[in-house]
Amino acid sequence: MKKKLVLGYSCLFAVFVVLVGCTFSAASLEGSPDDLSKQVIFSGSVNSPPLQWLDEQGSARGFFIDLQDNLGRNGEREVINSLMEWQDAMRAVETGEADAIALFASAQRSARYDFSLPFFHLAHAIFSHTNGEQFRNLADLEGYRVALVEDAFAATRLEQENLSILPVIVATELECLIAVDQGRADACIETTLVSKRNAFKLDVQQTSSPFWHQSYVFAVAKGNTEMLRWLNRQLTSLQADGTFFSIYKKWEPELEWSPPKFSDHLSLVAWIILPLLVVVAIGVAMNRYLKNELEKRTQELRYAAEHDLMTGLHNYQYFIDKLEKTLSSQPNWTPVVAFLRLNNLKTVASVFGRTGHEKLIKDFARRLNKLKFIETAHLGVGFYALVAEPGTKPKEIFKQLSFSCKIDEVKVDPHVVMGISSKKLENTMTQSLSDECVRRAIIAYAVAQRDNRSWATYTEQLEPDSKNLILLHDAQHQGTRDMFLVFQPKLDLVSGRITEAEALIRWNHPTLGIVSPAVFVPLLESTGLIRNVTRWVIKESIKVLNQLSSIDENFIISVNISSRDLMDAEFVTFITKNVDPAIRSRLCLEITETGIIDDVDHAQEVIKKLSDAGIRCAIDDFGTGHASLVYLSRFDITEVKLDRSYVKDILTHKRDREIVASTINLARKLGHRLTAEGVEDKKTLRALAEMKCDTAQGYVIAKPMSVVELETMIAEPYLSTEHLGKTSLV
Ligand code: C2E
Ligand code: CA
Ligand code: CA
Repeated sequence: MKKKLVLGYSCLFAVFVVLVGCTFSAASLEGSPDDLSKQVIFSGSVNSPPLQWLDEQGSARGFFIDLQDNLGRNGEREVINSLMEWQDAMRAVETGEADAIALFASAQRSARYDFSLPFFHLAHAIFSHTNGEQFRNLADLEGYRVALVEDAFAATRLEQENLSILPVIVATELECLIAVDQGRADACIETTLVSKRNAFKLDVQQTSSPFWHQSYVFAVAKGNTEMLRWLNRQLTSLQADGTFFSIYKKWEPELEWSPPKFSDHLSLVAWIILPLLVVVAIGVAMNRYLKNELEKRTQELRYAAEHDLMTGLHNYQYFIDKLEKTLSSQPNWTPVVAFLRLNNLKTVASVFGRTGHEKLIKDFARRLNKLKFIETAHLGVGFYALVAEPGTKPKEIFKQLSFSCKIDEVKVDPHVVMGISSKKLENTMTQSLSDECVRRAIIAYAVAQRDNRSWATYTEQLEPDSKNLILLHDAQHQGTRDMFLVFQPKLDLVSGRITEAEALIRWNHPTLGIVSPAVFVPLLESTGLIRNVTRWVIKESIKVLNQLSSIDENFIISVNISSRDLMDAEFVTFITKNVDPAIRSRLCLEITETGIIDDVDHAQEVIKKLSDAGIRCAIDDFGTGHASLVYLSRFDITEVKLDRSYVKDILTHKRDREIVASTINLARKLGHRLTAEGVEDKKTLRALAEMKCDTAQGYVIAKPMSVVELETMIAEPYLSTEHLGKTSLV
């Protein structure tokens, strides 16, 4: 029964998916009894049907309004639904004029509000004029006028895409569509749910598949834990007693709305055809003709509803519905579901331009479609999904996907990164089985991406760690209070002295102990908190540079910079303001190769400004991002740090040794210093010195240490001149 119900909904609107763990819910359920005398004021948008809007009589109506009224009834509080322009509605919660607002959860918004449990899900899409350019994906919008609602999720989220679009800012979602309809904007980005219906009344239509799937939550002012607890308790209670389900059922026809198909008008058509048949002799022929037309049109509509128009593969909706049907009808069938992405799309776009980028997406889809998987789909620009037979190993899937594609007769190898879900699902889950399969595959994909691996398979251990939430919360509130720096010496293989060190951050967390930067730096990067941390590391490193001047006035300290720092418009100004020109040549900023490739043009511009200001720049983890040294040499860098994965096996793997030797030679020809990272034994160190590598860093020289230890170490030569003469490092 339950499965049948689940099948009735489209997955995007799967209701009440409690993503947060039980601990969160349990914590939310504790607390003081409710204050019966209190009112709850919900703010919201005046024009977002069917979620919320003011009708002609000025009454608030919509799915959220019913939900909010029921939350009040259940929690015995009077509810006031105060609808206004969207920016005013958001501000009202911050100023205390309203207690809560239903909105998309996002990292940016988490800085302004605290969030309740998620209770609803939505996606965005691009809407274009029916007679204008049809924008299929975000990259297509480059250089065009895009209408956005001020302060809405789409406006802030789009900033992260780094597209040069011309924003047309308006107040409501309806105004966005009207701007496109009237030609004041070329396209707009909005939630599919609210806009599909409005667009249908105008000369505007949805032209992309859905993307940016987001959870709806109630947002309350930061620190308003009383209201948060109350909301979570009422949400949980409405879910448990079935009220939420009844509200959803009531609004289901609106929430699941789609443009009327020709088949919807069948009865009307029949009324027209019937008298014609009686009156006109040629009715039979006419009927046949209309039937053919109808069939053709229905097929076209079905094709458009089930396929991704860019690649011709099935779309997300079809994929998820088909998987749901099969999983519910065969409870013991445990297929392998993979979510995958082409990781080198950005590089391809920077080399072949936007058309090359699109060609790779299409050609990969064409090749994927030919393989014998049970189902394949294109979910959004460069994101694909597939279903394979139970028991298929990730390696087998990966092998099948290891083909070359063609862009303008040039062979390009797509870099596939996959997340796999292959475990049997529990039937007790609140969300549909297919949604859960895809969610798990996406979690595994994120892990593969984070760890620079080709694939990862879902296990429960991969679920977002509650520790990460604690770390994010504390980084936001305590800043760098419990952080400190250690320094790893770098050995100059010509002079035999320690002439440089890399500053590495540590976090002595009050409850979690020492936390590795490999854990917290990516977290801070994902939220933008890294910017302040980087600035702190730079200021601390400057202090250490000054402290070390009396021992070695040329000593250099390297600091790791995140790609988010490169995006920071104020970063170069911060550096020029804070780093005294006299010591600029002693500060080196390490930028990872992948960080540069993320946005090549911008990175090149920032690195040039830094270099013009006299700051050294190095490419970190070289070799992990598939860029060639010749390509990277167009950046104003002084040093290349060869990743440990290339260095560690040079004694045993001839190929690795050859790669390292040729990289050293090429770096020299291009005028860059080369540092070998992660050198763990003396024989490797000696081999590197023989290959004329400039600098080495690794545990064999020293592990990261305090400033005091560093002072002692740089005072003495690390290698004697006798050693250097024989290039014997033993
Ligand atoms: P990285 O920049 O590649 O730093 C080198 C890492 O390799 C350090 O790990 C270091 O302790 C480790 N390492 C050094 N020699 C050896 C060796 O011989 N063998 C092995 N197996 N490892 C060695 P750590 O300190 O845990 O840092 C990890 C990463 O965290 C760094 O990689 C860097 O990407 C990031 N990170 C560290 N500090 C900062 C920081 O202040 N800001 C930013 N943005 N990232 C940082
Ligand atoms: Ca580094
Ligand atoms: Ca490195």
